Amino acid sequence: MHFIDAHCHLDRFPDIPSAARQAREAGAKSVVSSGYDLPSSLASLEAAREFPGFIHACVGLAPTTAMGMPEQELLETLAQLKTLARNAVAIGEIGLDYHWPSKAGEIDAQKKSFSAQLDLAMEAGLPAVIHSRKAEEDAIRMLLEKGVRKAALHFFSGTPAQAERAAAAGHLFTVPPIRSKTRAETVSRIPLDLLLLESDAPYAGKTPADCLKSAEFVAEAKGISIHEALKATTENAKRFFSLGSGKESD
Ligand SMILES: [Zn+2]
Repeated sequence: MHFIDAHCHLDRFPDIPSAARQAREAGAKSVVSSGYDLPSSLASLEAAREFPGFIHACVGLAPTTAMGMPEQELLETLAQLKTLARNAVAIGEIGLDYHWPSKAGEIDAQKKSFSAQLDLAMEAGLPAVIHSRKAEEDAIRMLLEKGVRKAALHFFSGTPAQAERAAAAGHLFTVPPIRSKTRAETVSRIPLDLLLLESDAPYAGKTPADCLKSAEFVAEAKGISIHEALKATTENAKRFFSLGSGKESD
């Protein structure tokens, strides 16, 4: 029972080595820890250095972090992320989140940061991991307009039709351990080779092992065995993040 956790936040764990050990014991082949600001991106890179080949890092500035940043700080952060991207397997999590903005300009600031980081991903030849809360339409439109080649929509809560549009352009979806009727419909409609597992621990799931619940969910929605779901999503994650190609260890 092997799996790859395509999205979690190891920096939020009090003890990363023990979280890594538990993940391995539960069957994780790899764990991808995602940044959402500079400190969490650095912490994810540090964890990846400590567990080479097992932990991999994404670096990025989440929309809710970006929207409160003064212009100058945003530019400096983006420049630093560009340097950090050399040791990352993806740029993430980045995107749009319309749940929180209350002031004029906050959504514009999110879009600016998202757009700059999609450019960064493309320049660096890295995939992007996308957060799109209540902003799926705009997030997918920006991906398509910019011609981003490889993105994974994390914790996707949009409509199955929106998901199909992103899937038609070759984008992937990380399936969380939280079920919903709409998400089951989405998963059933998206080709198996575009699905990844995520725990989003310690938020949606408690630990990376909760990817096994995501795998069960995928298996049910697709009418396949859990073994098939694990096997396919593991291969998809290796391909998406270019794991095992040597690219991730630098
Ligand atoms: Zn996350």
